[in-house]
Amino acid sequence: MSKPRAYSVKAYSATDAKSPLAQTTIQRREPTDRDVQIEILFCGVCHSDLHFARNEWHFTQYPAVPGHEIVGRVTKVGAAVTKFKPGDLAGVGCLVDADLSCPQCKKGFEQFSPTMVGTYGGTDKHLGAPTLGGYSEAIVVDEHFVLRIPQNLNLAAVAPLLCAGITTYSPLRHWKVGPGKKVGIVGLGGLGHMGVKFARAFGAHVVVLTTSESKKADALRLGAHEVIVSTHAAEMAKHAGTFDFILDCVSAEHDVNAYLGLLAVDGNLTLVGLPEKPLLIAPFALVMGRKSLSGSLIGGIAETQEMLDFCGQHGITCDIELIRMDQINEAYDRLLKSDVKYRFVIDLSSLKSS
Ligand code: NAP
Ligand code: ZN
Repeated sequence: MSKPRAYSVKAYSATDAKSPLAQTTIQRREPTDRDVQIEILFCGVCHSDLHFARNEWHFTQYPAVPGHEIVGRVTKVGAAVTKFKPGDLAGVGCLVDADLSCPQCKKGFEQFSPTMVGTYGGTDKHLGAPTLGGYSEAIVVDEHFVLRIPQNLNLAAVAPLLCAGITTYSPLRHWKVGPGKKVGIVGLGGLGHMGVKFARAFGAHVVVLTTSESKKADALRLGAHEVIVSTHAAEMAKHAGTFDFILDCVSAEHDVNAYLGLLAVDGNLTLVGLPEKPLLIAPFALVMGRKSLSGSLIGGIAETQEMLDFCGQHGITCDIELIRMDQINEAYDRLLKSDVKYRFVIDLSSLKSS
């Protein structure tokens, strides 16, 4: 495969784990036969972007361009592309490549393929360079990994569905959350608020577990039936042993055993949060009641499309705060204070005009 030509676009990058993100210029490949070139209009700010920019997962290569909640407009397509044409709306989430022939890809689990390439932090096989994310003017992606966007939704509020949406939709579907189930959502941030919306839409009894007393009213407005302030021991004790399923969306170190204690016999707690440090598990918290602890990573491409279509049919979007590109460092500071309502989304027109 010969190397395609590259062209320059503006972006925001981190140059090391400590410095603030700043404007730069990056290279994108000219679209190859299977590629879709997208002018990025909005990009959500996932807490994973912050973990990655600051090398909290210990695999960041610098300069690093975060951003994997991308929506925009198609500007060019390769000769073999059939799903998209210039002018279409399009979305890109956390995945941009995989072999598509291994057992995981064949099952629709591209996220578990050994050849999976992340939107950032992977290697672009065409350019042989690190993949760079959506804090940029444009991106070029194989059409298999490009999603169709429902026409009836606010585009900026759709962007976070590409990660926060699918990351909560997928485990809630896998664990068959629905009528008659009591479901806990831990951490009312970007992921958590979408977990609440989906669990409610699937017909479950939804309980938010938050450390922020100030988010109580919002939790109810977003669809929760009940709210527990997790720092209040008495409130936690009232619910001991009663949950069928708990989705842990916490971005920082926390005591997961306290939440395991809320599960009923045979209940499951699924982790989607990816804090920097390992969690300590008390075996007694699991064996008493045959409880299980599992994890989940985003979702495959077909399920991401299913989630977007579901959102289109049910009018579901994210609650967002629109920011300019040059407000990204301030947004990261606020994420660390749990001060997010409930997803920052970057308006990329602010980068074009900078
Ligand atoms: P976020 O918007 O910053 O929300 C995180 C929430 O966690 C906070 O708003 C806060 O909610 C709660 N929290 C923070 N510190 C806490 C603490 N010490 N103890 C208890 N709760 C605490 O983050 P996000 O974008 O939703 O991402 C959440 C996590 O999921 C991150 O680690 C991210 O990397 C990970 N993630 C994983 C996947 C996957 O595929 N598995 C995909 C995307 C993101 P309250 O104020 O309600 O307590
Ligand atoms: Zn994410």
